[in-house]
Parts: sequence; C-alpha cells; structure tokens
Amino acid sequence: MSITRFANNDTIKQNNRLLILKEIRQNGPVTKIELANKFDLTFSGVGNIISILMEADLIKEVGYGESSGGRPPILYNMNWDSIYVIALVIGVEKISASLVNLKGEASDEVTAIVNSDLIIEKIYNLIDQLLDRTTIDTKKISGIGVSAPGPIDTTDGKVLTPPNLKAMSNIDIQDLLEDRYELPTALERDANAFALAEQWFGRVEPEEDILYIYNDQGLGGGLIINSRIHRGLGNGAGEIGHMIIDIDGPKCNCGNFGCLEALSSGIAIQRRVKEEIRRGFVTSLADPYIHEGIEPTINKIVEEAREGDKLALQVLHEAERYLGLGIANAINLFSPNQIIFGGEVTKLYPEMIIGVEKLAKQHAFSPHANQITFSKSAFIHESNSIGAAAVIQQKLFDLPLDTII
Ligand SMILES: [Zn+2]
Repeated sequence: MSITRFANNDTIKQNNRLLILKEIRQNGPVTKIELANKFDLTFSGVGNIISILMEADLIKEVGYGESSGGRPPILYNMNWDSIYVIALVIGVEKISASLVNLKGEASDEVTAIVNSDLIIEKIYNLIDQLLDRTTIDTKKISGIGVSAPGPIDTTDGKVLTPPNLKAMSNIDIQDLLEDRYELPTALERDANAFALAEQWFGRVEPEEDILYIYNDQGLGGGLIINSRIHRGLGNGAGEIGHMIIDIDGPKCNCGNFGCLEALSSGIAIQRRVKEEIRRGFVTSLADPYIHEGIEPTINKIVEEAREGDKLALQVLHEAERYLGLGIANAINLFSPNQIIFGGEVTKLYPEMIIGVEKLAKQHAFSPHANQITFSKSAFIHESNSIGAAAVIQQKLFDLPLDTII
C-alpha cells in the first residue's frame, strides 16, 4: 500500500506544487515535459501547476528549449524578483537589515551600531527605515529571516545568552517581529544561517553534508546534514568554537579553558599578538600599540605577516594549527563532504585554509578524509544578509504555497 493513500488530495497537490517550484529554483530553466518525466506526473498535471505558479508570478517563461520534432517547448524559470524577504543580521558590533530576492541578491541595506540595552528598539527602527526607504513593492515582502549569535532556542524563536552580545539575552525576537510586521519570521544561529546559505544559494549539492566554519571575532560552526541544519538536542550541535583543544589553554568567553574560539578566532589572534608585544617581542606591530594604544587589527596583523613580520606569522600559524586539529576532530565525528570557511579572518587571510586543510587531513583518522573539499565561502565578499535570507526562504518554500504568495 502506498503511503500517499493516506494523504488527502489537497496535500498531494500542494506537495507537487512545491516539488516543481523547488526543481525550477534549483535547476531552471526547465520545460513541462522535463518536469513531468522527473516527477512521474502527467503532462496536464504539470501544466496546471505551471499555470498556478505563473499566475502567482513566481515563475515566468524565458524562451524555448530544443524541439524533438514538433513545436519547441517553452522554458520556465523563477521570477527571481517576485518575492523579497527582510534579512536581519544581528552581529556583535552592528545590526543590519536588507531586502533579499529569491536569487540571494541583497538591496537597500541599513545598519546600526549595537551599544545599549535598547537593542529591540534599534531593530524596529532599522526595519522601519528599510521599509520607508525602499522602492521595492512592500507587498512582495513575504517573511523575515534573522541570524544572531548563539545560543538560540529555535523552537521559541528566542536568542538566549550570547556571551559576546549580552544585550540580546532572552529576547523573543521571532514573536516580537511576527507580531509587529505580520510576516512569517525565522531565527537561526549565525553560523547555521551561513551554512544554510552555502547550500541554498551556493555551490553545495543537495546530497552533500557540510561543516561551515565562521572564523570572525568569535569562531562558530554550522552543520548541514541531509540538506538540513543539524541542530541536535537543545540546538546544541555545531558549536565547534567551544570544542576544547587545550585544557591548559587560555580562558574562553564561555567560561571554559582552551576552546577553539580562544585559540583560533579573530579575538584570540589579536590577544596573542598583544601578549607577545607586552613580553617584548620585537615587531612592527608594537609601536602603535605601546605608544598610542592602537589595537592591532586582524587586517593589520595579516598585512604585517605578508611583509614577513615574525610575530604576525607566528600567531597566525598557531591559530591555523589549532583550527586544523579541531577540524580533524570534527571530521572523525561526521566526515562531511565539504568544509567551507567564512568570516572576517577567512576573508582577510584565506591562506589559512591551505594550512588548515593539510593539518586536518594529516590528523584525521579515516583515509577518506583526503576526499573532503576545503574552500572559502561562495559569499565571502557579500554581506551576511544572505544567511538570514536563506533561513526564511527555506522555511517559506516548506510552507503551504498560499503562505508564500
Ligand atoms: Zn568556549
């Protein structure tokens, strides 16, 4: 007995619409006959669904495919600008909001600095500003995606107690935004959101599992397994930044000692440079720090490393070594197909990926680790809004079609 016998007709129709919409989104442009063959549907059944999607403006005709004798078949593709989502990115230092289309293209970004307890007021102001200023038809806005530092309770849509962003603690951001803007809203931990963006908009095949490493000021991780964010119990999975690598190591923001975040993140690299300067290491980074109190930025440290500065090179190499070992441990646990790196440290110093890959492959247990692809994010130079957009777009594509249109 087929399981579909238990589903009512409406559910089947709804599922077929979504199947076709997803197929066009991923592999368009396509013809009706290709869709009918792929999903074992009748040609007229596909025709009906195509009419509904055309009427909703979600897809459009984009030309003709190759003829197999008769009239050439019409090609259909997404109408990429038919739907926009608000992408809200809550960072440790700033928040930003922008409108993102179905292709992942962001526009009208507005930003604000995070510096007070009134963060929710700032978020409202920012979104109001975005809606006021944009020339995009606001009727096309279908949802709000939010990415924020963890830990996060995705069931309640709540940011819990992020160690690097105390102002956001225990805010029911999802409910608050849904009530105020009357739009479906989804919240996700930042590294999970970026991982999802690689899969939703990037170069990851649906069957590939990925580990995403967000090396920025802090260090976060996201896991995509079977095309979905792997959350684990209580949403606790993916926190590679708090993998303990050296129990005698420096204190982490989370309270433990020797976490990967305390050894390989942007903050860790800066802290190590300052420590060595105070110990008297001779380096071109010393003068501005000692005499003018100017903090050595990651940008400056990388610049000096490229000029051959010994301290900068040593500290970056240390960070790379710990990260390589941490990733070897992660590979032993779930052996992903791809490991993708993002965040400011990766953007400024992509060379680190080469060293990390070599070390991780050397230390991983399975000989198959050699087949794992290491690369930088497809969106390394784009704004983080793409992660927040992926979170809500994936949710919308899973909802009944009437919710999207
Ligand atoms: Zn930690």
